[in-house]
Amino acid sequence: MYRTHHCGELRIHHVGNEVSLAGWVQSLRNLGGMSFIDLRDRYGITQLAFNMETDAALCEAARQFGREYVIQATGIVRERSSKNPNRPTGDIEIQVRSLQLLNASKVPPFTIEDLSDGGDELRMNYRYLDIRRNPVKEKIIFRHQLTLEVRKFLSGQGFLEIETPYLIKSTPEGARDFIVPSRMNPGQFYALPQSPQTFKQILMVGGMDKYFQIVRCFRDEDLRADRQPEFTQIDCEMAFVQQEDVLNMFEAMIQHVFKQCLNVELGNVPRMKYEEAMELYGSDKPDLRFDMKFHDLSEMKGNGFGLIDDAACIKGFIAQNSEQYFSNKELNALTDWVKRPQIGAKGLIYVKFGSEGIKSTIGKFYTDEQLLVIKDKLGAKTGDTLFILLGDRATTLKQLGELRLEVARRLDRIPEGVYKPLWVVDFPLLEWDEDSQRFFAMHHPFTSPLPDEKDKIFSDQREVLESIHAAAYDMVINGAEVGGGSIRIHDRILQARNFEILGFSKEEAEKQFGFLLGAFEFGAPPHGGIAFGLDRLCCIMDGSTSIRDYIAFPKNNMGRDTMIDAPSEVDAKQLSELGIQVQVDKAH
Ligand code: ASP
Repeated sequence: MYRTHHCGELRIHHVGNEVSLAGWVQSLRNLGGMSFIDLRDRYGITQLAFNMETDAALCEAARQFGREYVIQATGIVRERSSKNPNRPTGDIEIQVRSLQLLNASKVPPFTIEDLSDGGDELRMNYRYLDIRRNPVKEKIIFRHQLTLEVRKFLSGQGFLEIETPYLIKSTPEGARDFIVPSRMNPGQFYALPQSPQTFKQILMVGGMDKYFQIVRCFRDEDLRADRQPEFTQIDCEMAFVQQEDVLNMFEAMIQHVFKQCLNVELGNVPRMKYEEAMELYGSDKPDLRFDMKFHDLSEMKGNGFGLIDDAACIKGFIAQNSEQYFSNKELNALTDWVKRPQIGAKGLIYVKFGSEGIKSTIGKFYTDEQLLVIKDKLGAKTGDTLFILLGDRATTLKQLGELRLEVARRLDRIPEGVYKPLWVVDFPLLEWDEDSQRFFAMHHPFTSPLPDEKDKIFSDQREVLESIHAAAYDMVINGAEVGGGSIRIHDRILQARNFEILGFSKEEAEKQFGFLLGAFEFGAPPHGGIAFGLDRLCCIMDGSTSIRDYIAFPKNNMGRDTMIDAPSEVDAKQLSELGIQVQVDKAH
């Protein structure tokens, strides 16, 4: 037997017991006649003590060890003379009687401490060493607890966890598929699922009633900071439900996991229509941890300032009590910030209602009296700053939404450890794309219009189609979309019409989705569902900024796993079996 206890377990009441521990050498200290080893495993650290006078041989042996050596020690638990109150095992140590080296270790390339000296890349190359560090380990444990609670909750509600295949045919969800060649079917390919969407709908046709799966999804996208080519969804579907049923079920699930994993009472999840979210926050995933709602400032028109007079949309928000922070230098810096290509505003209008008077970029066109009227109307106070952007509606809202977040960050107004969940509902069904002159599904092609807007889908007028709302919903927490879903179309005619609007010919729709349309002809029940991004949910709940932290073996932002060195070339033989000739256009 390697161990009787683990390294986080022993307390003062174990004093006098003989125990065995096994683990890694965290550190070694030699103090005169004594040597100490901090022995670490997943559960904690326990101090091993060696006495040169009484046990010279053991002490000598211990002094040969290095960091990360794997050892086993047996000895007696005794009370420490100098206790370590920062460590759960800090009251005791082990007076070692026998010691065994289980495996030696090379000197690790970075320190295995909470704050490591290793850079990102180095730690990823040696991820197994990185995982030994507390901050990494704890996040992996957090993920386990979260998935466990999800499984408990959903199983308790009668959901069945059902696996769907990974080798499938491509489903259009807006990203590129990863494809896998089929050796047995030369020239043909599987696709890795972007989500199990069509399968879960077919499971509803199959009468499974309530399905869930904690499932890997694959999307071949250009990687932005917080994306991974493979990520995990909590994927769910229910039959005989309306939007209200789905929202209630998953509101309860999210409350459950917050309570169980964080001991946080999340409370009811408020709802906001997509339109309202855009108008008030310039985002379909507003961060409600701070206020700074938008105000319409159309009344500023008509003062002879062409820029404002001609703008289709003029909106602003108030940064309360910000006079101190927004010096001229800061305001210039913020103006530069909105002009960066990522934001793309032409400029920034601000009105500083300072204690020593008003200072603004539009003083030439508006008298102080006029600006004071606006101040009163918006409920602004002395010390506040009003920020204004203008232009076409969609762009202005989006830019002002970004600015709102940036101002909150700069003013340090985003509280930590606070959770503000929100359901965003009534998304548009379709989105017109100017470049390709066609409609795209805002959620996905299987999403149903709201029940009383179904007829509109048979219209051939673009404005009518654009005005249709979908029975689609997102769950947003602290400004991040953690889940999204919809009530599905379960009627073949409606589904076929939706494909038609999305630009699929009858033949294409049949070729791509014949199996689903076919299934709909055999008694598809009304159904709907949702999928949560598990990695993202971990991140938001645990207060981290990167989903990578919650993935044991993440890929870097080139989509590479540098530890195993993937992707990589394959044998010519493997390729020829697949009937594939590779011609790499390196310039591409
Ligand atoms: N399959 C959808 C997605 O991946 C979620 C859903 O509609 O249930 O976003």
